[in-house]
Amino acid sequence: MADLITKPKGTYDVLPSESYRWQYLESVLREAASDFGYKEIRFPTFEYTELFIRGVGDTTDVVQKEMFTFTDRGGRSITLRPEGTASVVRSFLENSLYGAGLPVKCFYIAPNFRGEQPQAGRYREFYQFGVEYLGSPCPSADAEVISLYATILDRLGVRNTQLTINSIGCPECRPKFHAALRAFFESRQAELCPTCLDRLSRNPLRILDCKSPICQKIAEGAPSCLDHLCPDCHEHIEKTKEMLTAMGIAFIVNPGIVRGLDYYTRTVFEFISTDLGAQSTICGGGRYDGLIETLGGQPTPGLGFASGLERLLMVMDAQGIEISKPEGCRIFLAALGEAAEVPVQKLVYELRKLGVRAERDTTGRGLKAQMKYADRLGAVYSMVIGDNELTAGKSNIKNMSTGGVIECTLTAEDIKNAVM
Ligand code: ATP
Ligand code: MG
Repeated sequence: MADLITKPKGTYDVLPSESYRWQYLESVLREAASDFGYKEIRFPTFEYTELFIRGVGDTTDVVQKEMFTFTDRGGRSITLRPEGTASVVRSFLENSLYGAGLPVKCFYIAPNFRGEQPQAGRYREFYQFGVEYLGSPCPSADAEVISLYATILDRLGVRNTQLTINSIGCPECRPKFHAALRAFFESRQAELCPTCLDRLSRNPLRILDCKSPICQKIAEGAPSCLDHLCPDCHEHIEKTKEMLTAMGIAFIVNPGIVRGLDYYTRTVFEFISTDLGAQSTICGGGRYDGLIETLGGQPTPGLGFASGLERLLMVMDAQGIEISKPEGCRIFLAALGEAAEVPVQKLVYELRKLGVRAERDTTGRGLKAQMKYADRLGAVYSMVIGDNELTAGKSNIKNMSTGGVIECTLTAEDIKNAVM
């Protein structure tokens, strides 16, 4: 026998027996996003590498260490999308979506690719649900985006989550904060990891987001961005907090949250689950008022979040949140004897066309094995059709759980009326 080929490291299969869980989650996400006025956007799985270098930032882990980049046959550098925001903004600009008026509110459910060390809740291909809110500078947009995710958690029944927010300021106040951070980390330079040494000169804010335990420990004593905000940024975060409080959305403020992407300004936030291990962040987002300009557009404020679907499903699993399985089979038609083969095939087809989940055996099993198969399919009803039934033009429909029977003609319409 030939060798079996396995899936690439860091990927996973969603098996046919599990996909209903994904479908349920996606339906809740789509419906909530629609209720909040977001329309779905779809974009390519790969983009020109330049988009992410400029859009995500070349001091980030994502760009420095994690991208799947290759040269295509035309010699262009292509990257499998590591995150959605840059693609949304690219599309917003390329298709002049601003032309129809601002704000533009959109959402996506799409796979991302990052060459990370695989572990529970961390994959090389993973799905994100994300929203982008383009064209509003106001705290009401921040409050709205956060409240959408809070609503999603509520509708999914997910408990024990914590919303953490922070403001990392704007180009006005950031330089002073960077200088304070740089001075602080310079005093601890000898202890920093090599990547953070590089970040020290290029973007000291990134050090706060380093995963190395030593850097994390040092960062605990770092100056707080909240103490360096300009009056406008201060007003923005205070108004956002006031709105969240009025909306009954609990949060804590943590100046240590800076998020892993370079484009953020002002509000950043994370939803953490206390029921997940190391990979506890189920959603991360914030404001990126400079990104659209960076990608060649007119200065336009924006914000959004992204949430990992795998982690959401893990939390739901950990909390024992049940997702009901869709019905597999409404009625199983068992063919008894050769003469029934064609009529059963025809009836199953007609029932399916009428929207009835009908099944039959196609492996040549005997009657007993066919009924076992019907059980395995979770058939609600069954009907045996043999020579006698064909002659009479009718048969019994049996309720598989109660055993009760009703007589029915061998027509798709009558069977449908009896079982639906
Ligand atoms: P982390 O700190 O866990 O690496 P991040 O800051 O890189 O997250 P973002 O890029 O903001 O995360 O992505 C938002 C969300 O996407 C995360 O909160 C998480 O739910 C999910 N996510 C990110 N990377 C992965 C991955 N490799 N595998 C699975 N989910 C992921
Ligand atoms: Mg990451």
